[in-house]
Amino acid sequence: MKRKGKEKSKKNYRKRQRSTSIYFLLWAAFSAFALIIVLMFGFSQRVVMTQTYKTEAVRDLIKKGNEIQTFIGKQGNGDKDELVHVLSSYYDVEVYVLNEQGEVVLPRPPEIDENGEFSRIFDFSGKIVTLKDKLAQADGPFVIYEGEEEYIYGSKIALYEDSQVYLYVTKSLQLMNAATREMSTRLWLIAAFTFLLSFAVSSAVSGWLTRPITEMTKKARRLARGDFNVDFHGNDYGQEMVELADTLNFARDELSKTDRMQKELIANVSHDFKTPLTMIKAYASMIIEISGDNKQKREQHAQVIVEETDRLTSLVSDVLDLSKIRSGIDVLKTTTVDMSSYLMEILARFDYLCETQGYVFEVDIDEDLYTQADELKIGQALYNLIGNAVNYTGEDKKVYVRMKKSENGCFRFSVTDTGAGIRKEELADIWDRYYRSSNVHKRPVKGTGLGLSIVKTVLEKHGFAFGAESEEGKGSTFYVDFPLQTLDKA
Ligand code: ADP
Repeated sequence: MKRKGKEKSKKNYRKRQRSTSIYFLLWAAFSAFALIIVLMFGFSQRVVMTQTYKTEAVRDLIKKGNEIQTFIGKQGNGDKDELVHVLSSYYDVEVYVLNEQGEVVLPRPPEIDENGEFSRIFDFSGKIVTLKDKLAQADGPFVIYEGEEEYIYGSKIALYEDSQVYLYVTKSLQLMNAATREMSTRLWLIAAFTFLLSFAVSSAVSGWLTRPITEMTKKARRLARGDFNVDFHGNDYGQEMVELADTLNFARDELSKTDRMQKELIANVSHDFKTPLTMIKAYASMIIEISGDNKQKREQHAQVIVEETDRLTSLVSDVLDLSKIRSGIDVLKTTTVDMSSYLMEILARFDYLCETQGYVFEVDIDEDLYTQADELKIGQALYNLIGNAVNYTGEDKKVYVRMKKSENGCFRFSVTDTGAGIRKEELADIWDRYYRSSNVHKRPVKGTGLGLSIVKTVLEKHGFAFGAESEEGKGSTFYVDFPLQTLDKA
């Protein structure tokens, strides 16, 4: 089963490795954006501009055609041939007047046409058929339509009093088509250049943006391998990177602290295990070799073995408790607890110390203070706090224990000692797992460096407020605020 899980996580890891990089995604997004802009630009040039150009050309030709028609009509019997020449060059169009058969009436074709060149130019027989067709379908006095390479304006006019002819005005599209072709070639060049530029810019920008992430990933891998000397920095890369770097530096500090404390715990625990084990072995050997027959001595030696075994048992149970609470195996079994009586019971466990080692407990406990809690776990937390006060109190061996009703619907438990106190900078750290201050203390109550960590975990699980205040040289106070439960006295 375990193996399967491992293979699965390896697979996921490989899967993640194959997923697309941010660098590529950014680059692709930038390039796609540039491409869309270029295409939109090209589309507007090719379709919209060409269309506008054509519409404008048609409108211009209609205006010119109408004016030419008016001029020719007004000419009367004057020299119409000359007029058509003048109008053609003035309006920059070709102007023809055709008869019913499509023969060019104006401008008059040259009379000498030896090689048939002019006949070909002036052969409008096909064109007059189309023009007549279009005019027949038109609902106005003129038509405008597109020829092979030109726009054509046509209308029926009365040239002389009795004869009806056709006005045929053309504007070549060659210039416009050439301009469109030129424009399109340039457009593709601009598009290609823009795309190449955006390609270069996007890869530079993507590289710049992903560089800190790549660097941080490399460093995070080093951190994962246990190198706590790595330093993450996101300067020059924006606020988000700075925040990420700060978070990773915080994680590094926490990991390194836990790692250091874990090593210390192993050293402490093995030392704490070793001392009672050595004692047990020594006293057991003494019973075998020396005190076997002496009842009094044997009992004394056996008593030491029992005490040391107790010490070992509490050490083991502390380590177990903490790992159970932390891993979430242990769920809270809350009931209504009479904390006033319960605290007295806990204090009774220290009677032996008071009698044998002269510790003095000053106790001030209000009656009937009830709360909802897991009795065993809360008991353990309070026992640890009182035990610490005993361990660290001053020469006068005094410990003050209070449990008093406060105004905000709570009651406060506090335990104060008269010891050396805790340095301000250490006050926040003492709740950490495995933390033990460098000071060496006499230890009437067992200590593993896990006590406060158990207190913290238990109280956090209950959601109770707690804390510590300390003044160096004067002593420390540890407190817990319990929500007061009022009982119906029915
Ligand atoms: P320990 O087994 O070392 O007492 P704890 O987790 O109970 O472990 O406490 C952690 C550290 O906090 C102790 O090593 C000690 O340095 C400090 N500490 C705890 N209680 C007190 C106190 N009442 N006075 C001074 N220092 C204390």
